Amino acid sequence: MYILVVNAGSSSLKYQLFDMESERVMAKGLCECIGIDGGHMKHQAGEKKFEKFENIPTHAEATKMMVAMLTDKEYGCIDSLEQISAVGHRIVQGGPWLVQSVPVNEDSLEKLRRCLDLAPLHTKPHLLGIEGCLAVMPDIPQVLVIDTAFHQTMPPKAYMYPIPYELYEKYAIRRYGFHGTSHRYVSGKCIEYMGGKAEGTRIITCHLGNGSSISAVKDGKIIDTSMGFTPLDGIIMGSRCGAVDPAIVPFIMEKENIAPSAMQSWMNKKCGLLGVSGVDSDMRKVMAAMNAGNERAKLAYDILVYDIKKYIGAYSAAMNGVDAIVFTAGIGENDETVRADVCADMEYLGVKLDAEKNAAVRKLPEPKLISAPDSKVRVYVIETNEELVIASDTRKIVFGD
Ligand code: ADP
Repeated sequence: MYILVVNAGSSSLKYQLFDMESERVMAKGLCECIGIDGGHMKHQAGEKKFEKFENIPTHAEATKMMVAMLTDKEYGCIDSLEQISAVGHRIVQGGPWLVQSVPVNEDSLEKLRRCLDLAPLHTKPHLLGIEGCLAVMPDIPQVLVIDTAFHQTMPPKAYMYPIPYELYEKYAIRRYGFHGTSHRYVSGKCIEYMGGKAEGTRIITCHLGNGSSISAVKDGKIIDTSMGFTPLDGIIMGSRCGAVDPAIVPFIMEKENIAPSAMQSWMNKKCGLLGVSGVDSDMRKVMAAMNAGNERAKLAYDILVYDIKKYIGAYSAAMNGVDAIVFTAGIGENDETVRADVCADMEYLGVKLDAEKNAAVRKLPEPKLISAPDSKVRVYVIETNEELVIASDTRKIVFGD
């Protein structure tokens, strides 16, 4: 059974075609700079690689390019689209209306349209990607897999902001949390590694990428997470500020004469590691600058490590302890220095890293356990696989297995 996973963003469309029997990726690709100059498509099926530079005017055009490549005689991996059993779409914000994976139909699309108000930057391209797929594959069942869904188990005390309750009711302003598919995947793996029983487990999952979020997972369910109403909240990120004193926002807007939409973009694109270091949003470049003696790069790095430590402390308190800490995503999986510094001076919590294992993670067999044998808290590095979760959910929704 082949399942196609589609991730439509504001100017990009990513896809992966899974063979569900082996859970192997048959083909994957990316259309970039949709609707702007510099259009670019990359596609790969096994060893066969294709790349072209050509403007891609719309998401509809990108979906046509995607299906053309999947069925291409030379670079494709299937003969016809009928071989695709279902399509799963990654949805960043489901709001209070979409709280689990659902089939694409009039009802779910209407609920998704309601999310336009909450998260226009993500929802608009999602709708375009879905429309594009429905146009080229009208008879293939499609499913929405919601990034906010795994966070739905948070109790009100964790998801409510201290604002007038009427505004929560009127505008659905609350903590939603993001990267849910990743937190779900890595916490599930971690539970498997710890014996397979969710009950009684207390796990802190650190998804550290360009966007970063940290979650507290108790008994296999989320009880709190660092991202909030939008993916801006929480720890310092590549170019996002994370949590700041809210009074700073109108202060800067007034002083710098910035309009609300421009401020939104500024907080997403000009802050974080980039804003503090002045170097880049990419952690590798910040690290290189720091190692070359750049003090602001070092400051950005220190803020990141300190932020992660604070969340680990807070979530340990929230769960009356912690049994495992998981590092995942670009930084979490690859940056041994961040992992070492986050886990340093955590004896109070019972965290003790094995320095050699931490440095040699790539060579470790799974499960990649990097804590010392006498550490009370297990520390794992787990490679996230959001696309596989989307494909599996899609299969479950459509075929019930
Ligand atoms: P996204 O949130 O876009 O999915 P990723 O999970 O791919 O992002 O993470 C991207 C981040 O991971 C970047 O900051 C990148 O510098 C960082 N990263 C990737 N590889 C390494 C590495 N070897 N060492 C340090 N950071 C890395």
